[in-house]
Amino acid sequence: MATIGDNLQAVRDRITAAARACGREPSHVQLLAVSKTFGSDAVAAAHACGQRAFGENYVQEALDKIATLRALDLEWHFIGPIQSNKTRPIAENFAWVHSVDRAKIAERLAAARPRELPPLNVCIEVNVGDESSKSGVAPADAGKLAQSIAELPALKLRGLMTIPPPAGDMATQRRFFASLRMLANDLTGAGFAIDTLSMGMSPDLEAAIAEGATIVRVGTAIFGERHKR
Ligand SMILES: *Cc1c(COP(=O)(O)O)cnc(C)c1O
Repeated sequence: MATIGDNLQAVRDRITAAARACGREPSHVQLLAVSKTFGSDAVAAAHACGQRAFGENYVQEALDKIATLRALDLEWHFIGPIQSNKTRPIAENFAWVHSVDRAKIAERLAAARPRELPPLNVCIEVNVGDESSKSGVAPADAGKLAQSIAELPALKLRGLMTIPPPAGDMATQRRFFASLRMLANDLTGAGFAIDTLSMGMSPDLEAAIAEGATIVRVGTAIFGERHKR
């Protein structure tokens, strides 16, 4: 049976190969290990194999792991939907939030960010597939939200995140990722100093890297299939 260490190495090898294939420097693609539904033992095992950044979707589950693993040097990223009554624990316990899609949420995160901590790194989640079932702003509204976030000193706008609709073939996957890249280019052109494209998961990280991903969020390929919560 493959261990978490074996899986991590296989994912790192995929990232390296995908970056080289398009002439990018592999170290410019950060691996975020998505540990949702897995316990702190799994996170500790990945950390022992050199993984430092972990992504979580559910606040209470994440807080339990963060408390248990306090002694390790870990960087926690919140990547799930954000309820407004959960902004305080998110602002207090995470280094990054990838899933900001409303100004009101951004304001609440900023208000709750402890002053002794550095600004909270945030990405705007964009609904590139225009799916009614998905969270994320419409591409046309990203600029306005970016402006709201840029006005909050307790937040640092880092870039854009997306979860595109599932697509079987590389060409279709790349089209959605390319649209996020072009939207980020538009924001850069409008004067926003962003450096992050959070896109690509277990099945499609190669397509995302080909379109410029700087963070890939990978769960299943590292920890195995998730059980239902
Ligand atoms: C669960 C999740 C992932 C990881 O997906 P896998 O297909 O298991 O790699 C990445 N991003 C977000 C936002 C998720 O919710």
